[in-house]
Amino acid sequence: MLRLLLARMEPEKQRTYRELANAHTTNRITPLLGVLRTNAIMLPEQVWRKTWPGNTSEDDEKLSGVCEVLSRINHSCRPNAVVDFHIPSFTYVLTAARTIPAGTEITRTYIENAEPAADRQLALRPYGFRCRCAACASPRVSDLRRWQIVKDACEPLPAVRAWMRDPALTDDHLIRVSKRVLQLGQEEGMEASAGFYGAHLLQLTLSYAALGERERYLEARERMLALGRCHHPLDGQLTGWLLPKVPEEQVVWGHRVPALD
Ligand SMILES: [Zn+2]
Repeated sequence: MLRLLLARMEPEKQRTYRELANAHTTNRITPLLGVLRTNAIMLPEQVWRKTWPGNTSEDDEKLSGVCEVLSRINHSCRPNAVVDFHIPSFTYVLTAARTIPAGTEITRTYIENAEPAADRQLALRPYGFRCRCAACASPRVSDLRRWQIVKDACEPLPAVRAWMRDPALTDDHLIRVSKRVLQLGQEEGMEASAGFYGAHLLQLTLSYAALGERERYLEARERMLALGRCHHPLDGQLTGWLLPKVPEEQVVWGHRVPALD
């Protein structure tokens, strides 16, 4: 199958594919498959289900792509960029997760990087290298911070709804937690993590909306949109009903009940 696919490519592209790293030279698999396993960038499930609705395959290799440039980007557990798949243009898109100073290497993560350093090294084994990023170099500090981030993982919409109606909770009940997690996320270089960093940024933004704090809502919304662009590069999903530009149009705007003294 791979041989067939490769034969359809121009000779130059075939050469480029064969020159990519192969971390599976000791396995009993062909070099072509080894290159695929080392370099393929998997499509997230929600993307391939949308892209290929009839497909029920459990085989990840059928749902991945090898990219001429993006597959060459090195891993870091503190990635400064993220690769996503953009359905309308059917392309992989690389976006900065934070400001990248000129001359700095661009990195992305190959694994679920909220895990402790030892687990990350295990997960990276199939790629044939040991990560030496700052988080892996100081696991005692980094693992504790990542554990705190995972422990305080949130589901922003239900959490904000519950807090909004509960006068026994203080106004800054969720804001305090989200600010702490965002701080930890920045210290750990985990801004690209939608599930942890992105969720807390959304929780913060919605909390300000419920409190009717205009300036803070708009400022948090800007940060959220920057992250949103990072995960959904061109579709602008977050600009609609969830985070409208006019704060008063947000559905929870000013709906926080007064806290009990
Ligand atoms: Zn690392």
